[in-house]
Amino acid sequence: MGQTGLSIQKRHPIGYYFLSQTKSLGVTIMKALQSVIEAYQIRRQFPYFQPHPEMRSLIYLDNAATTQKPYAVIEAVSHFWAYHNANVHRGAYGVGAKASEMYESARARVAQFLNASNPNEIVFTRGTTESINLVAYSWGMSQIREGDEIIVSEMEHHANLIPWLQVAQAKGARLVVWRITDDGRLNLDDLRNLLSERTRLVAITHISNVLGTVNPVQAICEMAHFAGALCLVDAAQSIAHMPVDVQAIGCDFLAFSGHKTYGPTGIGVLYARYELLQSIPPFLTGGGMIRSVDWDGAQWADPPAKFEAGTPPIGEAIGLHAALDFIDTIGREAIEAYEHELTQYTLQRLQEVPGLRLYGPQPDRAGIFAFTLEDIHPHDIATVLDNFDIAIRSGHHCAHPLGDRLGVPSTARASIGIYNDTEHIDALIEALHKVRKVFGYA
Ligand SMILES: *Cc1c(COP(=O)(O)O)cnc(C)c1O
Repeated sequence: MGQTGLSIQKRHPIGYYFLSQTKSLGVTIMKALQSVIEAYQIRRQFPYFQPHPEMRSLIYLDNAATTQKPYAVIEAVSHFWAYHNANVHRGAYGVGAKASEMYESARARVAQFLNASNPNEIVFTRGTTESINLVAYSWGMSQIREGDEIIVSEMEHHANLIPWLQVAQAKGARLVVWRITDDGRLNLDDLRNLLSERTRLVAITHISNVLGTVNPVQAICEMAHFAGALCLVDAAQSIAHMPVDVQAIGCDFLAFSGHKTYGPTGIGVLYARYELLQSIPPFLTGGGMIRSVDWDGAQWADPPAKFEAGTPPIGEAIGLHAALDFIDTIGREAIEAYEHELTQYTLQRLQEVPGLRLYGPQPDRAGIFAFTLEDIHPHDIATVLDNFDIAIRSGHHCAHPLGDRLGVPSTARASIGIYNDTEHIDALIEALHKVRKVFGYA
């Protein structure tokens, strides 16, 4: 780059992303034009979308896999490594105190972002996967008994499925599957029939990473509680795209990853009600998580330290703090509204491609579009699109049981982020027409 992110950041001051809400402009073309301008202003906050000798200009539509990072995040991380690096909660010297303060400030920021009642309800992990494994091994392995039931939906990512399979197998418990409807939704009446006094947990994704279905997590948690069960929400796909309020949802556990939130990899969050964190055993043990230890045993530190054995991802937590600031500067309601419009536009345009089969509900859904096109292999679709500098994903998207249900082991998947706009979707549609031609469809 030749210069630090800080100087670049200063040349692109924040605060002018959304010119105004588009509601008063009735004319569709004006809306489209305005959304292009807004997304362009946001792209200027990302080095990934700037001209650079090492970069080819790319239309990035793989946001459900990971998001790009704004200068603000890259700068916050490099500033920490450059000037404030020290281990946390250990050194008595000033730099260590500053690092601890920054790390704890990131925790407080996450608590505020989720509307948790207390920063001590926030445990830093490496990602959604580790957060859910923490719950499975600490809560699940200690609380689940033979004959208990754990409900998971048919649309779960493997991260919210395999840990529960492990617990069920180890404890002689039963994994109960909440099937999806033919249009890719979950029916609350079906859940009512699955819940019983044997149910201990409902583990549910907020937004499906394949179908784009937005699940009514608040109602699901309420029903789980009514049956005397707990509720875990996998917020990996919702956290950067809509407001997520743990108190409004009423969940007992909620997990997300920094890297799908315009933040760094290697950092994730587990939110859990404080009493739960107090009552369950630690997951990993080692330094930093004990109050006292002798040859007879150890006393655990209070949560969240009890669940953060070893040196945590400090710089990554600070990067996550910057990412949440970035998101809130735009505004989560504004992001949700903008992406909703872009989603509607995308749904409409995808219909123009002959032989394209889109999975998941319509029109109320998130901006994740898994599809097949004629009999073309999804990997071939993605490869041809890559030649047109459009990045999408193909494969099973870590949801094998869902693929079985849909009858397609593999799909192509485009997914939007805050920097995408209608021009990107136009390019995608045009390229899909070309994919058809390449594979001999008239
Ligand atoms: C990506 C994803 C995960 C796993 O996140 P990691 O960052 O890989 O741990 C879990 N659930 C859903 C719905 C996801 O999209």
